[in-house]
Amino acid sequence: MSMTVKPYYFSDKLSNFDYLIPKSIEEAVDLLQKYKGSAKLMAGGTNIIPALRLKIFPVYPEKIINLKGIKELKYIKEESGFLKIGALTTFSEILENKIVDSTYKALTEAALTSAPPQHRNLMTIGGEVCKEPYSWYMWNPNPIARELISDPSYIANEGMNQYLSIFGGSDMGYAVNISNIAVALSALNAKIVTTQRTIPIEEFYQDKMGVTSNTILAEGEIVKEIQIPKPDKKIKQAFMRISFRKFIDESVVSSAICANMSSDTIEDVRIFLGSVDPKPIRATQAENFLKGKKLLLTLLKKHVKNLFKEQHL
Ligand SMILES: Cc1cc2nc3c(=O)[nH]c(=O)nc-3n(C[C@H](O)[C@H](O)[C@H](O)COP(=O)(O)OP(=O)(O)OC[C@H]3O[C@@H](n4cnc5c(N)ncnc54)[C@H](O)[C@@H]3O)c2cc1C
Repeated sequence: MSMTVKPYYFSDKLSNFDYLIPKSIEEAVDLLQKYKGSAKLMAGGTNIIPALRLKIFPVYPEKIINLKGIKELKYIKEESGFLKIGALTTFSEILENKIVDSTYKALTEAALTSAPPQHRNLMTIGGEVCKEPYSWYMWNPNPIARELISDPSYIANEGMNQYLSIFGGSDMGYAVNISNIAVALSALNAKIVTTQRTIPIEEFYQDKMGVTSNTILAEGEIVKEIQIPKPDKKIKQAFMRISFRKFIDESVVSSAICANMSSDTIEDVRIFLGSVDPKPIRATQAENFLKGKKLLLTLLKKHVKNLFKEQHL
C-alpha cells in the first residue's frame, strides 16, 4: 500500500507588495479606488500581517495601504451624548482613558482580555472591528488542516470544533467573529461611522462569511469612528470570556451585558455573545427571561465562579 504524506509547511514569508502611507482619509480613499481589487488596508497590522503570512486571502494584495499616517483618526472625545473613538486609537490609549475607564466598563474589560500589553500598543479599534474572521482550520499553518475546511461537516462534528460557530456553518467552514470588542460594542449599542455612512453595529456584520471579512463594508469604504451612546447611570455593564489561556488565545465564548437597573430589578437588558457565530449574536431569550427579575449580583457572581470551576476553566 502506498501513501502520500504531505510535508508540514509553515509559510512564514510575506510575498512582495507595495507599501503606501496616505496622510489623509481622502488620500486613502483615492488609493483604494485607484487600486480597486488589489489593495488592502492596514492599521496596527496585528491581524493582517499574520493573514498575509498564512496566505489566507484568495488573491494576494499587491498594495498595502497603511492608515497609521492619518493622525486625524486618533482621538477619544465626548460629544453630543456620544463617546467618539477615532478608528486608529489603540487599545492602550482606550485603556488609559479616564472617561472610558469610569463609564464604559464593558469596553475596558473587553480590551483588557484581548491581547498582552505590548500588542495593545499596536492594535486599533478600527482594525479590531474589521478583523478577518477566525477558524482554527483557516488560520492553521498546516495545509492539511486548511484543506479540511472544504468539508465543514467533518469540522463541525468531529474536528477541533471548540473555536467554531455553534449556530450554523458558512462557506468558510464554521468560522466565527472573535472580536471581544465587537461584543462589548454591541451590548453598548454602538455605531460605526465610515467614509460613506453610519451603521448600527448590529447591522455591521453579516451571517455570510467571506474569506477576508464578514462586515458589510463596501470596497473602498473605511471605518473612521466608533460612537457609543453615553450610558445612563442606572446601566450596569460587564464583559466576560472563556478562553484556554489568558492572552494570545481566541475566546471560546465571550459575553457582554448592559442592564438598566432600578434598585435590584432589571428593567431592560442587552446581552451579546461572541466567538460562537459569524457575528456577535444577541441572546434575546436570556434578555426576555431577565427583564423584570430581581438580580442579586453577589449570588450571580458566586454561581458563575462555580460554573467556571466545574468546567475546569
Ligand atoms: C500576539 C497577538 C495576540 C492576540 N490575541 C488576541 C486575543 O487574545 N483575542 C482576540 O480576539 N484577538 C487577539 N489578537 C488579534 C487582535 O485582536 C487583532 O489582531 C487586532 O485587534 C486587529 O487590529 P489591528 O489594528 O492590528 O488591525 P489590522 O491587522 O491592521 O487590520 C485588520 C483588518 O481590518 C482592516 N482594517 C483596519 N483598519 C481599518 C479601517 N479603519 N477601516 C476598514 N478596514 C480596516 C484591515 O484591512 C484588515 O483586514 C491577537 C493578535 C496578536 C498579534
